[in-house]
Amino acid sequence: MTTRVFFVLIAIFVAMPTISSFAKEEIVVYTARKEHLIKPLFDLYTQNTGIDVKYITGKAGALLERLKAEGVNSPADIFITVDAGNLWQAAEEGVLQPVSSDALNANVPANLRDPQGRWFGLSVRARTIVYNTNTEAGKELTSYEDLAKPEWKGRLVLRTSKKVYNQSLVASLIAEHGEKEAENIVAGWVRNLAVDPFSNDTKALEAVAAGIGDAAIVNTYYFGRLMKKKPELPLAIFWPNQQSSGVHVNVSGAGITANAKNKEGALMLIEWLSGEEAQAQFAGLNMEYPVNKKVAADPVVEKWGEFKSNPMNVAKYGELQGNAIKLMDRVSYK
Ligand code: FE
Repeated sequence: MTTRVFFVLIAIFVAMPTISSFAKEEIVVYTARKEHLIKPLFDLYTQNTGIDVKYITGKAGALLERLKAEGVNSPADIFITVDAGNLWQAAEEGVLQPVSSDALNANVPANLRDPQGRWFGLSVRARTIVYNTNTEAGKELTSYEDLAKPEWKGRLVLRTSKKVYNQSLVASLIAEHGEKEAENIVAGWVRNLAVDPFSNDTKALEAVAAGIGDAAIVNTYYFGRLMKKKPELPLAIFWPNQQSSGVHVNVSGAGITANAKNKEGALMLIEWLSGEEAQAQFAGLNMEYPVNKKVAADPVVEKWGEFKSNPMNVAKYGELQGNAIKLMDRVSYK
């Protein structure tokens, strides 16, 4: 063998492990967060690192079932979904694994991640009250609890109790007040409904804008989206419970799957998503709030004003989800 051939062979052997570990670096994500909200971030990550991010999108429940069915054969490294109730459910079903990460602990406030490290919030959504500015509601509003009072008879608009967002909200009331008092509050809401609950937050907002009711409980980004399209609508945000528990907040977030083939790469991607480069865009694309306190919210979102949020650990929404569903059923919240 000539020296030259020898060196070529050496070069090939040296290169081989690099090639195979590069192939392994690919990260596979199952995401219930919509493609247009997540793809720009994955593209930027690939641009920065050369690491490919493959993903499939779907409904939270369907993706969870798929992860369970695939078991050890699942190609997924990361599961991304919305609502702490869904993240908690995924962890309970055993499809996520705990990780400990100094970066995630620094970037994600303790109340917005799983105490056992199986999932981490990546954006914050506030479920607040939006009212019709042609009414007196702005002067009367105080708290979620007070929407149960007789003064609100025939004026309240809600989304269906089937939506996890409302299950999480009611779970937080149970955690705050106990089951009995929470039931009184939610029963009061149902008594005060202006109209049957709507299938989504946007329809609830449009009903308030049309004067069908005076106020609705909705996530802020639906308000943001609707006002962007129709800025003339007589709607404004109210931040409830500023003298008490604070505004109910929830998260979208991510966890590393129990059978991740590329755990290290998955962790690096989630850490990056929680960091300063990604956070403004991750939250901003959906008019949400960054979880990372070092990052400012989008200027449009910022204009809605500062508010005190409820410091409760969002994992509580999962723990009490079953109780919340039963409670809403008892008071005939459809
Ligand atoms: Fe939503």
